[in-house]
Amino acid sequence: MSDKEKKSFTAKKFCLGLGLAVNIIGLVLIAVGIALLMTDSALEIKYGLAIAGIVIGFVGLIFVFAGLKKDKGEKAPEPVKCKYCGEPNPPQSKFCRKCGKPMVKKCVNCGAELDMDAKYCNTCGVRVRKDA
Ligand SMILES: [Zn+2]
Ligand SMILES: [Zn+2]
Repeated sequence: MSDKEKKSFTAKKFCLGLGLAVNIIGLVLIAVGIALLMTDSALEIKYGLAIAGIVIGFVGLIFVFAGLKKDKGEKAPEPVKCKYCGEPNPPQSKFCRKCGKPMVKKCVNCGAELDMDAKYCNTCGVRVRKDA
């Protein structure tokens, strides 16, 4: 796990924890408000507590969602399938981790890395496949 991933991971956990804690505070306030409804304390206190609880709970929910939502553009890179055995390999793999066959080929002219099914080198334009 890279440092960047670690950072976003802990930030998310922090958001989730904070959101849950704030939600609990909100729920407690609502509960106290409801409990006070049974008593004859001032109406403003009862409704004030209930409304404060709902608002705080809502803020907590925002944190929970922020903690849960997936990072855009930070998802794991797509694996590359081996042309020979179909094994998904990490991108930029030079050889298949299952069968050991090369995942990329090099241009005979300029040495640029090419896709296995490339017909022409996209760096120098030379033909790299005889059947092309
Ligand atoms: Zn393979
Ligand atoms: Zn080339």
